[in-house]
Formats: sequence, C-alpha cells, structure tokens
Amino acid sequence: MAFVTPEAPTRQELSACVQCGLCLPHCPTFRLTGRESAGPRGRLMAMSAVIDGVLTVDEAFDDAMSYCLQCRACEAVCPGLVPFGRVMEGARAELDVQRPSPQRKIRRLLLGVVLPNRSLIRVATFGAGLLQRLRLAGVLPVPVRRSFTGMRRLGGRRRWIGRQALPAGEPIGTVGLLAGCVMDAWFGPVHDATVGVLTAAGYNVTVPETQTCCGALASHDGHVEVTRELAERNRDAFANFDLIVSDAAGCTAHLKEYDHWVGAGFQSRVRDATELVAELIDSGRLPTLAGDRGGVAVQDPCHLRHAQRIMAAPRSILAAAGYTPLEIDPDGLCCGAAGIYSVLHADTSHELGTRKATQVLDTGAPVVASANPGCEMQLRSHLDGKVAVAHPIELYWRALTESRIDAGAP
Ligand code: SF4
Ligand code: SF4
Repeated sequence: MAFVTPEAPTRQELSACVQCGLCLPHCPTFRLTGRESAGPRGRLMAMSAVIDGVLTVDEAFDDAMSYCLQCRACEAVCPGLVPFGRVMEGARAELDVQRPSPQRKIRRLLLGVVLPNRSLIRVATFGAGLLQRLRLAGVLPVPVRRSFTGMRRLGGRRRWIGRQALPAGEPIGTVGLLAGCVMDAWFGPVHDATVGVLTAAGYNVTVPETQTCCGALASHDGHVEVTRELAERNRDAFANFDLIVSDAAGCTAHLKEYDHWVGAGFQSRVRDATELVAELIDSGRLPTLAGDRGGVAVQDPCHLRHAQRIMAAPRSILAAAGYTPLEIDPDGLCCGAAGIYSVLHADTSHELGTRKATQVLDTGAPVVASANPGCEMQLRSHLDGKVAVAHPIELYWRALTESRIDAGAP
C-alpha cells in the first residue's frame, strides 16, 4: 500500500535529494554494512518508490527504516538540505499504521503511557534500584542488561538545587526546566547542576509541575497521536517562561521542533542547557575559572551535534571549568544508544558502543563528558567502570562550587 498518513514523507521533501552520496560515509549503518538500503540515500529512494507506487510498505521497507538510528548525521552534511529526521519520523508513522504488531503496541504503551507517568517511572526506578543493590543485573535479558549497567547508582534524596547552592546572580529572566521522564528520576544531579548554574547566572528557574515527557522517543517511533498529545501538554506547562531549557540533548532537539506539533511560538524559546551556559560564560555572566583540572574526553550526542548543530558549547564549558577538552571522533559517529534502538538492534548498538568506548579509552582521560542521558548510559555500560561519565554542566558546576569554597564564599 502507498503512504496513508498526513505525516508521511512528501514528494517535495524527498526530491531535495540529488543522490550525491555525500552522506554515505557519515552513516553508521551504511559504514557497518556497506548496503545501499542501510544508508540514507537508499532509505530516501525507498520512500520515493512507495510514493511512485513501485514499492509498498512491506517487510523490506520496514527493515530498511527500522534499522536507521535516526542520528541525523546524514542531514548535517547534506548539500540538498534533505530534512532526513522529519521524513524518517514520517516513514515510522507509516509503519506504525500499516504494519501493526504486538511489539509496536507494547512500544506505544511504553512510550505513550509509562514514560509520561511519574508514578510508574518511580515504581520502575524503585525496582531498578533494588536490582542494583542486590546485584541482580544478570536476571535481565542481554540488551536490557547493557542499558541497565549504564545507569547511575539510583537512590538518595532528590534536591533541585545543590547543597552548595551559590547566591543568585542579578535577575535576567525566567527559565522553565524540562524535567524529562527518566532524566528526572535517574539523572537528578544533572538537573541540580543546571539549576545551580542558571540560578548563579541570574535566571529564576522553575520546574513546572504540569509538564510531561517531551515525546521524542514516541515521535522517533512513529506514534503521532501520543507525540502531539505530549507536546500540547508541554506547550501549556511552559507557556509563561522566557526560555525553555533542557539538559538532555535528545529532548532539546525534539522541543526545537515542537512548532510542527503545536503551532508557532514554542521552539524559538527553547535552548539546550549547554548552549545557554556557554552563552552566559561568553557574556561574562558566568565566570571562566582558573586552574588546570586535566583532560576530559568529549562525546558529541547526535541530537546535539547533528540535529541542533551544537559542537562548540560543551567544549567551551569544559574549558571555562579548567578542563582540557579531548577529541575522540572527528566524524561524531553515533554511539549506538539511539533511544530504544539499543534494545531493538542490540548487536549493532553494541558494536557502535564498543567503538565509541575504545575512542574514549584511547584519550587516556579519566572522565568523558556527554550531554545526553542515553549516550551517557551507553558509554558507561561499554566503558566498564574504566572512565567516569558526566554531563559537561555537572563538571562546570562542580568546579564553580569548589572554586567559591576555596575563595571562602558561603
Ligand atoms: S547527501 Fe543529501 S542529497 Fe546527497 S545522497 Fe545524501 S541525502 Fe541525498
Ligand atoms: S539518520 Fe543516521 S543511521 Fe539513519 S540514515 Fe541518517 S546517518 Fe544513517
């Protein structure tokens, strides 16, 4: 059958591809397999063939689209400006409608009902914490176990502002912070650091109670109605803030495309925490700290580097904290986490994760900085405790609070 949903890739979008092939060496799945159907150009040709009535949304089409990591490395280098992320989400929406399966139903339930529900996330977090404490990761199936071993240690009290909170800077505006789904429950210290740093710069930071999961994973998996519903809830929750900030690159990238789901006026207020903090350092609102804290390997999350085109910000934050940023991968190839991809395509994900971990180890750095929770988990599970993993803003916050304590500040 041809495409049937309003979200389907359009002929106009696909015609931007001039089939030059420049994207191919940047595509992880093409590099691993060498198959045209596993690269961006082949995927776009398959979508065009469905529009032309030459192909249908069959199993082969499903395989070609589902194997894509949605890393958008192809989009970042494309001279034709093909909106690859958008058309791939459209293709996934078609799969959701035309190739229903029990697995897709379970995923819709997980991404549309479980992730946005804080009570269910709390229950899942409690269970995961118990498995951690009892060292029972071995009971989990291998792909889930890999993600599980990449989790931070769970438990402890949540605190929105670090114990070493600094005095607030001169007021400059209001920020609504996206708490996120698992980000909130599993990466609390990253939020603490973001709130602490933005408050020190002069922002009045609020974490709106009525917000929900950003919907990025639902959107990537083609669940259109769920995506729109979550976006509408967040549009209302964040209506009254000057800026909407997220410290999870995958979430920020999706928030920056919210106008597609809820109409104009949202995405122009969205900032990734790294780009905002880097701007605040540049403008002198936040200090550049003295001292040499050593090298930190920098991992570029795809949804920071390729989707948002942000590369300099994490490096300048680390440099301002006194670290030396160390490059690990000139191509910025995906680490293989890619949301639920690490479970659906465990072997490919593992291969990419192993490559990324080797690149980190080759730097000899004791820490790697990553601005996305999925990447952080993938790195930690493949680094096997040999290198610490932290968000760049956590490292800056730590350095900032230490320097104020050393200077005798309260
Ligand atoms: S780089 Fe862009 S125009 Fe060239 S083949 Fe890839 S998607 Fe098509
Ligand atoms: S999004 Fe990533 S995996 Fe998918 S075609 Fe583009 S480069 Fe390849």
